[in-house]
Amino acid sequence: MTAIDTKCVQAGYTPGNGEARVIPIVQSTTFAYDTPEEMGDLFDLKKAGYFYTRLGNPTVGGLEEKLTALEGGTAALCAASGMSAIMLATLNVCKTGDNFLSTSNIYGGTYNLFNVTLRKLGIECRFYEANDSKEKIESLIDDKTRFIFAETIANPAGIVIDFDKLTSIAKKYGMLFMVDSTIATPCICRPIEWGADVVIHSTTKYLDGHATSVGGAIIESGEFNFVGNPRYPDFNTPDASYHGLVFARDAGKTPFTMRARVIGMRDLGAQMAPMNAFLTMLGTDTLHLRMARHSENALALAKALEKHPQVEWVKYAGLESDENYARANKYFDNGNCSGMVTFGIKGGREAAMTFQKALKLFKVVTHIADSRSCVLHPASTTHRQLSDADLVACGVAANLIRLSVGTESASDIIADVINALDSAK
Ligand SMILES: *Cc1c(COP(=O)(O)O)cnc(C)c1O
Repeated sequence: MTAIDTKCVQAGYTPGNGEARVIPIVQSTTFAYDTPEEMGDLFDLKKAGYFYTRLGNPTVGGLEEKLTALEGGTAALCAASGMSAIMLATLNVCKTGDNFLSTSNIYGGTYNLFNVTLRKLGIECRFYEANDSKEKIESLIDDKTRFIFAETIANPAGIVIDFDKLTSIAKKYGMLFMVDSTIATPCICRPIEWGADVVIHSTTKYLDGHATSVGGAIIESGEFNFVGNPRYPDFNTPDASYHGLVFARDAGKTPFTMRARVIGMRDLGAQMAPMNAFLTMLGTDTLHLRMARHSENALALAKALEKHPQVEWVKYAGLESDENYARANKYFDNGNCSGMVTFGIKGGREAAMTFQKALKLFKVVTHIADSRSCVLHPASTTHRQLSDADLVACGVAANLIRLSVGTESASDIIADVINALDSAK
């Protein structure tokens, strides 16, 4: 099984003789053993096996195995949401007094976590801009810097990551490079192939793809060398809460996800529900087909938007005129760029409202990345507490409209948007 398309359909579950063809939903909190010694060995990690669904479950495990295969890593850990996956990954390497770097062009929820909540815990996020030089980014690093973070395709800014630049910085400083690849998915880009050490997903988006299940995941490359690395003392000293386990030494090629599971998940309890793992796994069966179609539809719509007099600007990495076009061609499969398109509407907030009300196919929802086309105007919804000046500062103009282009017919999609633009004149 080498092609990504085959992995989408087949990876993560292989039935034994006479067993269910589709992965069963193991809706059980716990697992029974014949002897207390066996249970003890599981707690000591001497044996592999399930014992409590907070720490592992066969249905969730199937999805973890599939995501590991799709991203080309060594192990994965699923979580209750994208946010909890990011929180688990961060707390896996940071404690009070530590810091990390992130671009400021990231998902709004992640921005709040990094800029407000973690700061209150004494973990400092140092923001850089996507276009900053290597030197400028490096000037933010000190011996307490634990990782560098970015999104493969920034939501909603649409910026495509410069993998070469960020990988070379992370390698130079022996530091983890963590990438939120939610919008790209492994069917467009596999960050590990470009030097990322940890890939994070909100599986809520394209991986589920049908808007049924909130979820998240962390996948590790298995390539990062934690052994003796002074940036990661917690991976190199015996863990008092885990029988003196030294993760860098004892966890093979999976130290990051192993620690996130047996320490982070044990203590925070943000596990994915088996039912959600099942639905997400079902979604990933068609991921390769959907991402090609989302991308094709989005490009056709972006081209139509570029020509419309009511449109001030369009942002989509698949457009030759876009500043991210070259990077998308370099890092993305077949130049596919997902279904997320943003544009600026002439006439500001008022026109944005009229436009949204006139749409029929596109529904107004706080979500992106499922089969059904949808629309969001951040300035009047997710970002409505911000002034126009604040909006400009965080890269979300007052007239920015985010479209999540679905898998319906391109002609219906374009007709709906053009019609709504015409009525917003
Ligand atoms: C939605 C999203 C998240 C948060 O995921 P949830 O599953 O909603 O918690 C994180 N990163 C990106 C890029 C997202 O789009």
